[in-house]
Amino acid sequence: MTRVYLDHNATSPLRGPARAKMLDSLRAAGNPSSIHAEGRAARALVEAAREKIAALVGGRARDVVFTSGATEALNLALRPHWRGPQGAPTRLLLPAAEHVAALDGHRFGDRAEILPVDSNGLLDLAALDAALARADGPPLLCLQAANNETGVLQPVTAVAEKVHAAGGLVVCDAVQAAGRVACTFETTGADMLVVSSHKLGGPQGAGALVLRDAALRCDRPLIRGGGQERGFRAGTENVAAIAGFGAAAEDALAHRGEEAGRLAALRDRLEAELLRLAPAATIFGAAAPRLPNTTAFAIPGLSAETALMAFDLAGLALSSGSACSSGKVKRSHVLAAMGVSDDLTRSALRASLGWTSTDADVAAFSVALGDILARIGRKSAVLRPK
Ligand code: PLP
Repeated sequence: MTRVYLDHNATSPLRGPARAKMLDSLRAAGNPSSIHAEGRAARALVEAAREKIAALVGGRARDVVFTSGATEALNLALRPHWRGPQGAPTRLLLPAAEHVAALDGHRFGDRAEILPVDSNGLLDLAALDAALARADGPPLLCLQAANNETGVLQPVTAVAEKVHAAGGLVVCDAVQAAGRVACTFETTGADMLVVSSHKLGGPQGAGALVLRDAALRCDRPLIRGGGQERGFRAGTENVAAIAGFGAAAEDALAHRGEEAGRLAALRDRLEAELLRLAPAATIFGAAAPRLPNTTAFAIPGLSAETALMAFDLAGLALSSGSACSSGKVKRSHVLAAMGVSDDLTRSALRASLGWTSTDADVAAFSVALGDILARIGRKSAVLRPK
């Protein structure tokens, strides 16, 4: 059976150029810290990838810190040890719809304040203003450019202006936005950007924290040892993964404009089919600007767990929102923060498209959903047509 993969926000399949670059890099025998020719060849692969990640976010190569992924990059960024122009942040501001890697990965302890979001998942700007007005010292704010569950795009530039005016620093979690929409230091105004390789078609296990400029200082490494990655993150670099990350970023950036239009058209068609087959469906965040590739929806009375299994049996990979490490369907904290009822949250599904997606995928979604509704609808009073 041909599979239809609609879960690019969990992991986007490896792009051809990334695969080729990784295979090539596996032939490099050396350690990038060694000074012999083999070491220099490995170093060249890492530095070439650094240039490509810098180009993706409009930064400088020397300000790219490679990590094992975005979770680690957020753990590195969300610490009180950074010093900006106004000194070290004394508190952390976190919107409630951020990824758990930020919500649970920071080191501010009880000096972290959760900010509310509205019914579309957008940061409540009045609550932000109130938090910034409190004379509690310079804040560090972490804000996603795009939400992984709903695709909703935050007004990062406007938020960054407010935070900077209050003497604070901004970390932008660009994991879902980078390579899909323009997401650079210029478009966000952020001081640090976090990116992940496997969300843009690179291998899993690589990511980066990119700093806006050298004026940002931090004297506490995340991992101590040999001083690699400007001393922030010791340990021999994962050369093949970093090289694949760079190649994926370059490919995503090269095709971003045309892909955004193509995927938006596919996503809109998928949503039109959804509403034709299930007119009672809710599309989360539909009133806000969204990524072109993501739709999060719920069909009242159709549980996410049942639907995911039925789609899987029909050959389609969807998700219930955030991928949970236990493989179970977990209640979404994002939808809860948006005020979605428990009942509807239990029905929440996500389809996220990407470079492999085609018209045929949308057609397969429509056929599978029609079948599921017909089968489950026969058993369920809720879904039975009146
Ligand atoms: N931030 C967002 C918005 C994400 O979607 C994810 C992954 O789902 C992460 C951070 C963590 O990324 P990684 O898998 O590279 O650790």
